[in-house]
Amino acid sequence: MTIAVASGKGGTGKTTIATNLAVIASEKYDRVTLLDCDVEEPNSHIFINGEKVNEEIVNVKIPEVDESLCTECGACSDFCQYNAIVSLKGKPVVFKEMCHSCGGCSLVCQPKAIHEVDHRIGVINFYKSGKISLIEGLLDVGSPLSPPLIGAVKKHENKEELNIIDAPPGTSCPVIEAIRDADYIILVTEPTPFGLNDLILAVEVSRKLNKRFAVAINRVGSGDDRVHKYCKKENIPIILEIPDDRKIAELYSNGKIILGNLPEYKKSFEEVLEKIGMVIQNEQ
Ligand code: SF4
Ligand code: SF4
Repeated sequence: MTIAVASGKGGTGKTTIATNLAVIASEKYDRVTLLDCDVEEPNSHIFINGEKVNEEIVNVKIPEVDESLCTECGACSDFCQYNAIVSLKGKPVVFKEMCHSCGGCSLVCQPKAIHEVDHRIGVINFYKSGKISLIEGLLDVGSPLSPPLIGAVKKHENKEELNIIDAPPGTSCPVIEAIRDADYIILVTEPTPFGLNDLILAVEVSRKLNKRFAVAINRVGSGDDRVHKYCKKENIPIILEIPDDRKIAELYSNGKIILGNLPEYKKSFEEVLEKIGMVIQNEQ
Protein backbone atom coordinates (compact mmCIF):
# COMPACT_ATOMS: atom_id res chain seq x y z
CA MET A 1 0.00 0.00 0.00
CA THR A 2 1.28 3.46 -0.86
CA ILE A 3 0.04 6.64 0.80
CA ALA A 4 1.17 9.93 -0.74
CA VAL A 5 1.20 13.08 1.37
CA ALA A 6 0.85 16.09 -0.92
CA SER A 7 0.05 19.76 -0.70
CA GLY A 8 -0.92 22.49 -3.18
CA LYS A 9 1.75 24.72 -1.64
CA GLY A 10 4.86 24.43 0.49
CA GLY A 11 5.06 25.02 4.24
CA THR A 12 1.70 23.49 5.16
CA GLY A 13 3.06 20.65 7.30
CA LYS A 14 3.29 17.94 4.63
CA THR A 15 6.59 16.57 5.90
CA THR A 16 5.38 16.73 9.51
CA ILE A 17 2.46 14.48 8.60
CA ALA A 18 4.49 12.13 6.35
CA THR A 19 7.22 11.56 8.96
CA ASN A 20 4.81 11.13 11.87
CA LEU A 21 2.76 8.66 9.84
CA ALA A 22 5.94 6.69 9.10
CA VAL A 23 6.76 6.59 12.82
CA ILE A 24 3.29 5.46 13.89
CA ALA A 25 3.21 2.89 11.06
CA SER A 26 6.55 1.47 12.20
CA GLU A 27 4.84 0.48 15.46
CA LYS A 28 2.37 -1.62 13.49
CA TYR A 29 4.26 -2.91 10.44
CA ASP A 30 7.51 -4.88 10.18
CA ARG A 31 8.90 -2.43 7.69
CA VAL A 32 7.90 1.03 6.47
CA THR A 33 9.42 2.80 3.47
CA LEU A 34 9.31 6.58 3.53
CA LEU A 35 10.08 8.00 0.08
CA ASP A 36 11.07 11.66 0.18
CA CYS A 37 10.14 12.82 -3.32
CA ASP A 38 10.36 16.52 -2.41
CA VAL A 39 13.67 16.35 -4.26
CA GLU A 40 14.38 20.08 -4.46
CA GLU A 41 14.27 20.42 -0.70
CA PRO A 42 14.05 17.03 1.01
CA ASN A 43 13.96 17.35 4.79
CA SER A 44 12.34 14.15 6.08
CA HIS A 45 15.82 12.97 7.16
CA ILE A 46 15.98 15.78 9.73
CA PHE A 47 12.94 14.37 11.54
CA ILE A 48 13.61 10.67 11.00
CA ASN A 49 17.23 11.06 12.07
CA GLY A 50 18.38 7.74 10.61
CA GLU A 51 21.79 6.38 9.75
CA LYS A 52 22.84 6.81 6.11
CA VAL A 53 23.50 3.36 4.71
CA ASN A 54 23.92 3.91 0.98
CA GLU A 55 23.66 6.33 -1.92
CA GLU A 56 22.97 6.01 -5.64
CA ILE A 57 23.81 8.52 -8.35
CA VAL A 58 20.93 9.17 -10.78
CA ASN A 59 21.72 9.93 -14.43
CA VAL A 60 19.57 10.61 -17.46
CA LYS A 61 20.54 10.10 -21.09
CA ILE A 62 21.32 13.18 -23.16
CA PRO A 63 22.50 13.43 -26.79
CA GLU A 64 26.09 13.99 -27.85
CA VAL A 65 26.89 14.90 -31.46
CA ASP A 66 29.80 13.42 -33.38
CA GLU A 67 30.74 16.37 -35.61
CA SER A 68 32.67 14.13 -37.99
CA LEU A 69 29.41 12.36 -38.93
CA CYS A 70 27.05 15.37 -38.78
CA THR A 71 25.82 16.65 -42.15
CA GLU A 72 24.24 19.73 -40.52
CA CYS A 73 20.82 18.71 -41.89
CA GLY A 74 18.95 20.28 -38.93
CA ALA A 75 16.57 17.34 -38.45
CA CYS A 76 17.46 17.03 -34.74
CA SER A 77 16.75 20.67 -33.89
CA ASP A 78 13.56 20.61 -35.97
CA PHE A 79 12.41 17.59 -33.97
CA CYS A 80 13.20 18.78 -30.43
CA GLN A 81 10.15 20.37 -28.84
CA TYR A 82 12.16 21.62 -25.89
CA ASN A 83 14.79 23.57 -27.85
CA ALA A 84 17.38 21.43 -26.12
CA ILE A 85 19.24 20.90 -29.38
CA VAL A 86 19.42 23.87 -31.75
CA SER A 87 21.25 24.60 -34.99
CA LEU A 88 23.69 27.47 -34.67
CA LYS A 89 25.10 28.36 -38.10
CA GLY A 90 24.14 24.82 -39.13
CA LYS A 91 25.93 23.10 -36.25
CA PRO A 92 23.74 21.29 -33.68
CA VAL A 93 24.36 22.48 -30.11
CA VAL A 94 22.95 20.59 -27.09
CA PHE A 95 21.61 22.48 -24.06
CA LYS A 96 21.75 19.57 -21.66
CA GLU A 97 19.80 21.26 -18.83
CA MET A 98 16.78 21.58 -21.15
CA CYS A 99 16.89 18.02 -22.48
CA HIS A 100 13.99 15.75 -21.45
CA SER A 101 15.85 12.59 -22.53
CA CYS A 102 13.16 11.55 -25.02
CA GLY A 103 15.77 10.08 -27.37
CA GLY A 104 13.96 11.49 -30.42
CA CYS A 105 16.86 13.45 -31.89
CA SER A 106 19.05 10.37 -32.14
CA LEU A 107 16.22 8.51 -33.88
CA VAL A 108 15.75 11.18 -36.57
CA CYS A 109 19.48 11.57 -37.21
CA GLN A 110 19.97 9.59 -40.43
CA PRO A 111 23.81 9.60 -40.42
CA LYS A 112 23.78 8.29 -36.82
CA ALA A 113 25.82 11.26 -35.66
CA ILE A 114 24.03 11.35 -32.28
CA HIS A 115 24.71 8.94 -29.46
CA GLU A 116 23.46 9.16 -25.87
CA VAL A 117 25.62 9.78 -22.83
CA ASP A 118 24.91 9.87 -19.08
CA HIS A 119 24.14 13.22 -17.44
CA ARG A 120 23.91 13.35 -13.66
CA ILE A 121 20.78 15.01 -12.21
CA GLY A 122 20.94 14.02 -8.54
CA VAL A 123 21.46 11.39 -5.92
CA ILE A 124 19.32 9.02 -3.86
CA ASN A 125 20.30 8.75 -0.20
CA PHE A 126 19.27 5.67 1.79
CA TYR A 127 18.75 5.98 5.55
CA LYS A 128 17.72 3.41 8.13
CA SER A 129 16.00 4.20 11.42
CA GLY A 130 14.59 1.17 13.21
CA LYS A 131 11.87 -0.28 11.00
CA ILE A 132 11.82 2.82 8.78
CA SER A 133 13.74 2.86 5.50
CA LEU A 134 13.99 6.46 4.35
CA ILE A 135 14.78 6.87 0.65
CA GLU A 136 15.52 10.47 -0.24
CA GLY A 137 15.92 12.03 -3.66
CA LEU A 138 18.20 15.06 -3.77
CA LEU A 139 18.27 17.05 -7.00
CA ASP A 140 21.61 18.56 -8.03
CA VAL A 141 21.70 22.34 -7.76
CA GLY A 142 20.67 23.88 -11.08
CA SER A 143 19.13 20.70 -12.47
CA PRO A 144 15.54 21.33 -13.63
CA LEU A 145 14.75 17.64 -14.13
CA SER A 146 12.99 16.52 -10.98
CA PRO A 147 10.47 14.00 -12.49
CA PRO A 148 13.15 11.48 -13.59
CA LEU A 149 14.74 11.65 -10.13
CA ILE A 150 11.35 11.21 -8.46
CA GLY A 151 10.74 8.23 -10.75
CA ALA A 152 14.10 6.76 -9.67
CA VAL A 153 13.20 7.19 -5.98
CA LYS A 154 9.84 5.49 -6.53
CA LYS A 155 11.52 2.45 -8.03
CA HIS A 156 12.46 1.64 -4.43
CA GLU A 157 8.82 1.37 -3.34
CA ASN A 158 8.14 -1.96 -1.70
CA LYS A 159 4.68 -2.91 -2.95
CA GLU A 160 4.42 -5.78 -0.46
CA GLU A 161 4.63 -3.39 2.50
CA LEU A 162 3.65 0.13 3.49
CA ASN A 163 5.13 3.08 1.58
CA ILE A 164 4.64 6.72 2.48
CA ILE A 165 5.52 9.33 -0.13
CA ASP A 166 6.42 12.88 0.88
CA ALA A 167 5.47 14.55 -2.42
CA PRO A 168 6.82 17.87 -3.70
CA PRO A 169 4.53 20.88 -3.14
CA GLY A 170 2.36 22.31 -5.91
CA THR A 171 0.31 20.74 -8.70
CA SER A 172 2.77 20.49 -11.61
CA CYS A 173 4.66 17.58 -13.27
CA PRO A 174 6.85 16.62 -10.27
CA VAL A 175 3.75 16.20 -8.09
CA ILE A 176 1.99 14.09 -10.70
CA GLU A 177 5.08 11.88 -10.98
CA ALA A 178 5.16 11.46 -7.19
CA ILE A 179 1.48 10.67 -6.59
CA ARG A 180 0.23 8.98 -9.77
CA ASP A 181 0.69 5.40 -8.54
CA ALA A 182 -0.39 6.01 -4.94
CA ASP A 183 -3.31 4.05 -3.46
CA TYR A 184 -4.39 7.01 -1.35
CA ILE A 185 -3.50 10.69 -1.15
CA ILE A 186 -3.58 12.94 1.90
CA LEU A 187 -3.85 16.57 0.83
CA VAL A 188 -2.42 18.81 3.52
CA THR A 189 -3.65 22.36 3.85
CA GLU A 190 -4.10 25.25 6.26
CA PRO A 191 -7.36 26.97 7.17
CA THR A 192 -6.61 30.18 5.27
CA PRO A 193 -7.76 31.66 1.94
CA PHE A 194 -4.37 30.77 0.38
CA GLY A 195 -4.61 27.26 1.79
CA LEU A 196 -8.08 26.83 0.32
CA ASN A 197 -7.01 28.16 -3.08
CA ASP A 198 -4.14 25.66 -3.33
CA LEU A 199 -6.26 22.86 -1.91
CA ILE A 200 -8.85 23.33 -4.67
CA LEU A 201 -6.09 22.90 -7.28
CA ALA A 202 -4.72 19.81 -5.52
CA VAL A 203 -8.22 18.30 -5.34
CA GLU A 204 -8.66 18.87 -9.10
CA VAL A 205 -5.38 17.03 -9.79
CA SER A 206 -6.34 14.13 -7.49
CA ARG A 207 -9.73 13.82 -9.16
CA LYS A 208 -8.21 13.92 -12.65
CA LEU A 209 -5.88 11.11 -11.61
CA ASN A 210 -8.92 9.24 -10.29
CA LYS A 211 -7.38 8.83 -6.84
CA ARG A 212 -8.89 8.23 -3.43
CA PHE A 213 -7.99 11.15 -1.21
CA ALA A 214 -8.78 13.02 1.99
CA VAL A 215 -7.74 16.32 3.51
CA ALA A 216 -5.54 16.95 6.53
CA ILE A 217 -5.84 20.44 8.02
CA ASN A 218 -2.85 21.79 9.88
CA ARG A 219 -2.84 24.72 12.32
CA VAL A 220 -6.58 24.50 12.92
CA GLY A 221 -7.67 27.58 14.84
CA SER A 222 -5.20 29.90 13.14
CA GLY A 223 -7.48 30.94 10.28
CA ASP A 224 -11.12 30.58 9.31
CA ASP A 225 -13.57 27.80 8.42
CA ARG A 226 -13.47 28.09 4.61
CA VAL A 227 -11.54 24.84 4.17
CA HIS A 228 -14.00 22.97 6.41
CA LYS A 229 -16.95 24.40 4.46
CA TYR A 230 -15.35 23.54 1.12
CA CYS A 231 -14.68 19.94 2.18
CA LYS A 232 -18.26 19.59 3.38
CA LYS A 233 -19.66 21.00 0.15
CA GLU A 234 -17.43 18.75 -1.98
CA ASN A 235 -18.02 15.73 0.24
CA ILE A 236 -14.29 15.33 0.89
CA PRO A 237 -13.37 13.56 4.15
CA ILE A 238 -11.16 15.41 6.64
CA ILE A 239 -8.89 12.66 7.91
CA LEU A 240 -6.73 14.64 10.32
CA GLU A 241 -6.85 17.99 12.09
CA ILE A 242 -3.77 19.32 13.85
CA PRO A 243 -4.42 22.32 16.08
CA ASP A 244 -2.37 25.50 15.98
CA ASP A 245 -0.21 24.35 18.86
CA ARG A 246 2.92 26.30 19.81
CA LYS A 247 4.52 23.08 21.11
CA ILE A 248 4.29 21.52 17.61
CA ALA A 249 5.88 24.60 16.04
CA GLU A 250 8.73 24.42 18.56
CA LEU A 251 9.28 20.73 17.84
CA TYR A 252 9.33 21.42 14.09
CA SER A 253 11.85 24.22 14.40
CA ASN A 254 14.09 21.85 16.41
CA GLY A 255 13.79 19.07 13.81
CA LYS A 256 11.75 16.83 16.10
CA ILE A 257 8.65 14.82 15.30
CA ILE A 258 5.35 15.18 17.17
CA LEU A 259 5.05 11.54 18.18
CA GLY A 260 7.32 10.55 21.01
CA ASN A 261 7.26 14.14 22.25
CA LEU A 262 3.53 14.91 22.39
CA PRO A 263 1.78 11.57 23.07
CA GLU A 264 -1.65 13.24 23.02
CA TYR A 265 -1.46 13.25 19.20
CA LYS A 266 -0.67 9.55 18.81
CA LYS A 267 -4.29 8.45 18.53
CA SER A 268 -5.04 10.90 15.72
CA PHE A 269 -2.21 9.50 13.59
CA GLU A 270 -3.18 5.91 14.39
CA GLU A 271 -6.71 6.67 13.22
CA VAL A 272 -5.42 8.06 9.91
CA LEU A 273 -3.75 4.74 9.10
CA GLU A 274 -6.79 2.76 10.24
CA LYS A 275 -9.22 4.83 8.15
CA ILE A 276 -7.07 4.60 5.01
CA GLY A 277 -6.59 0.86 5.52
CA MET A 278 -10.35 0.40 5.80
CA VAL A 279 -11.08 2.44 2.67
CA ILE A 280 -8.58 0.47 0.62
CA GLN A 281 -9.77 -2.86 2.02
CA ASN A 282 -13.42 -2.04 1.27
CA GLU A 283 -12.65 -1.18 -2.33
CA GLN A 284 -10.64 -4.32 -3.06
S1 SF4 B 1 20.16 15.27 -37.29
FE1 SF4 B 1 22.24 14.41 -37.13
S2 SF4 B 1 23.19 14.96 -39.02
FE2 SF4 B 1 21.41 16.28 -38.82
S3 SF4 B 1 22.16 18.14 -37.80
FE3 SF4 B 1 21.44 16.77 -36.22
S4 SF4 B 1 23.27 15.64 -35.60
FE4 SF4 B 1 23.74 16.55 -37.54
S1 SF4 C 1 16.67 13.73 -26.32
FE1 SF4 C 1 14.67 14.68 -26.80
S2 SF4 C 1 14.59 16.46 -25.46
FE2 SF4 C 1 16.73 15.82 -25.52
S3 SF4 C 1 17.64 17.04 -27.13
FE3 SF4 C 1 16.98 15.11 -28.06
S4 SF4 C 1 14.92 15.55 -28.85
FE4 SF4 C 1 15.43 17.17 -27.40
